[in-house]
Amino acid sequence: MPALILDGKKLAAQIEAELAEQVADFIENNGREPCLAAVLVGDDPASGVYVKNKRLACERVGIESQLHCLPAATTEEDLLELIAQLNSDDEVSGILVQLPLPSQIREQKVLDAVHPLKDVDCFHPENVGLVVQGRPRYLPCTPHGCVQILHRYGLGAAGKHVVVVGRSEIVGKPVAAMLAQKESHLGPASCNATVTLCHSRTSNLPEICRQADILIAAIGKPKFVQGDWIKPGAVVIDVGINRLPDGLVGDVDFDSAKEVASAITPVPRGVGPMTITMLLLNTLAAARAQVA
Ligand code: NDP
Repeated sequence: MPALILDGKKLAAQIEAELAEQVADFIENNGREPCLAAVLVGDDPASGVYVKNKRLACERVGIESQLHCLPAATTEEDLLELIAQLNSDDEVSGILVQLPLPSQIREQKVLDAVHPLKDVDCFHPENVGLVVQGRPRYLPCTPHGCVQILHRYGLGAAGKHVVVVGRSEIVGKPVAAMLAQKESHLGPASCNATVTLCHSRTSNLPEICRQADILIAAIGKPKFVQGDWIKPGAVVIDVGINRLPDGLVGDVDFDSAKEVASAITPVPRGVGPMTITMLLLNTLAAARAQVA
């Protein structure tokens, strides 16, 4: 039987509707809108699209957004100065620095400069540490999107073997940490997994993937994971976004995988829309934290 398609776009719209009500309550109680300040350096077209989509999503739920566009030749010093201004601006609840940054700017230095309370991407070491310790202030957006998809489709991770392919700071490592926790804000069924974290030096990758009850692919290689790497009935979360001449594809070969898996996220309309919605949740949480 072909796999159930896990519709991230539909879920994101549902969560946005819930969030719009919470944002309206926040505005009524505090007399101000939550505000996301997006910082875009250079003219990378994909980054421009991501920022535009994030701003449109803010609009849909009643969150104000600012866009700070800087030229590609911006120095690290100038960018750090802008971050410092946004950190001290009471109107700004959350700061998003769109990655990648031009090569003359050290990404880590900039991300570390964002005030932890305004770090709605959850990249600051303080916030990452809190996630790993199981007492998050904010949750990283893409990993949280993956966990929400599983949760809202009733696909508990507890007791399951989750194999994550990819160990990036943005996706692989934090999603592994979240799913291995004892407790989650979504309840014990949404964590307590046995997690295997794979990467480019992993031996026998297809064999390890075949042991997964839940397989999460975050590699950045189009259609890399094949259907015969998947255990029949497994759940597949494809984080990958790869631009090919004929459109977007994930890191999983969707056509072969959907014949074996019991459920799978498509690309597009899977994890991508959920990532943006999780950013909105963090922006409201940041606004609340700053009026508390
Ligand atoms: P990175 O390039 O930072 O990390 C890729 C990871 O994949 C690394 O850990 C790397 O291993 C591993 N890897 C690379 N080649 C292999 C291989 N042959 N076998 C096993 N592992 C391998 O990517 P990101 O985590 O930032 O992104 C991954 C994908 O997710 C991309 O397609 C990106 O566009 C997409 N993405 C999607 C988002 C969404 O909202 N849906 C958000 C963020 C990313 P090693 O560490 O050893 O180099």
